[in-house]
Amino acid sequence: MDVASSSLALHNSRQFYERAQHTIPGGVNSPARAFDSVGGTPLFIEGGEGAFLHDTDGNEYLDYVGSWGPMIFGHAHPEVVTAVQDQAEKSTSFGAPTEIEIEVAELVCDLVPSIEKVRMVNSGTEATMSAARLARGYTGRDKIIKFEGNYHGHGDFFLIAAGSGAMTLGEPDSPGVTKGNAKDTLLARYNDLDHVRHLVEANEGEVACIIVEPVAGNMGCIPPQPGFLEGLRELCDAHDIVLIFDEVMTGFRVAPGGVQERIGVTPDLTCLGKIIGGGLPVGAYGGRQDIMDYVSPTGPVYQAGTLSGNPLAMRAGHAILSKIAAEKDRIYDELEAYAEALERGTRDNLEALNLDYTTHQVGAMGSLFFTDEDVVDQTTAQTSDTDRYAAYFHAMLEEGIYLPPSQFEAMFFGTCHGEEHLDTTLAAQRRALRQVHA
Ligand SMILES: *Cc1c(COP(=O)(O)O)cnc(C)c1O
Repeated sequence: MDVASSSLALHNSRQFYERAQHTIPGGVNSPARAFDSVGGTPLFIEGGEGAFLHDTDGNEYLDYVGSWGPMIFGHAHPEVVTAVQDQAEKSTSFGAPTEIEIEVAELVCDLVPSIEKVRMVNSGTEATMSAARLARGYTGRDKIIKFEGNYHGHGDFFLIAAGSGAMTLGEPDSPGVTKGNAKDTLLARYNDLDHVRHLVEANEGEVACIIVEPVAGNMGCIPPQPGFLEGLRELCDAHDIVLIFDEVMTGFRVAPGGVQERIGVTPDLTCLGKIIGGGLPVGAYGGRQDIMDYVSPTGPVYQAGTLSGNPLAMRAGHAILSKIAAEKDRIYDELEAYAEALERGTRDNLEALNLDYTTHQVGAMGSLFFTDEDVVDQTTAQTSDTDRYAAYFHAMLEEGIYLPPSQFEAMFFGTCHGEEHLDTTLAAQRRALRQVHA
């Protein structure tokens, strides 16, 4: 799409973007923000409230990105604001233990079925890196199995792409990742249990862990097929492999206790992030007590952090998690109802125009793929018409709806989204899709 034809006033965002390029690589602190997949100028945001964001030009948008997941109660939720202000007055960091860390840990252990003990870190990336190190230390094995199209942050041994050939040895997916890193990462196809079994059997006694997004969200939203997660559990049990659910995105989102609660499959370790920090930088990993006690200082596997369990972040996380614990019987039904209604309306809109589509929705996340294929893994997700998605994204933006700036990122819903937003979104979508279709 010719973004210059955009009728949105983006004068300030354009200026900031230009200025940012001089001192920040690509003008952004995380690549997906640069709108590379859809083109155009990234919006520079000034503030947000509830379901809405406003940019530096004064445009207002209904937000379906929610900071890529954390904002399940919307922006500037009063309980989070108060918690953070209150803590800031008592200092923002001590590097010594605090009571609030225990309270957050207790909430996490109560909410997430498999977690008996939990360690706080500062991001999802740190959580997955640490969990994989722990699994390796605990099992005394080097190899890990991950799935094509799953994202676990930017740790070296996760930035691995499928190589050629039937045995699917990994290859570095970024310069700077060594062949040494790649040789210990095996790539499996999502939703393909036979492929995983084959990899495990070909590397008998060498695989420390299988790490999986139990509902994939980083190639668009793709649910596990019936039996897939159960099959991984059985395989891990049979071969003494640590099963890690990366619930950085799905934790507290598809159910209070994540996918493991929703589907009833229990991993050995779980990685958390995003919602757990209420919009502040928090990650966590936790699980079986015998494995978690293998972390220092009780165990030999080293992991540490100057700002881990930071009181400001813990206060924000505590505000979110205690609200979830108190209101979970109501809010997850409401989130699901909103997401389902939006999916139904979206299908109607697409069918009225005879456009090819596949939609997925699990709890408070979902995706619209512009393809008529069944989307079950990375290969089928990639059949989507990304040019059409880019055009749709920009048409929606002009309508004041902020969608993820990539076909392969999920949409997130929050308790801030209500009936009135549903109607606004579907009406905007009808106009946007007509434009895309033309
Ligand atoms: C976002 C995400 C990560 C990385 O978390 P960061 O906080 O961005 O480092 C890891 N795994 C999954 C499934 C994610 O969605």
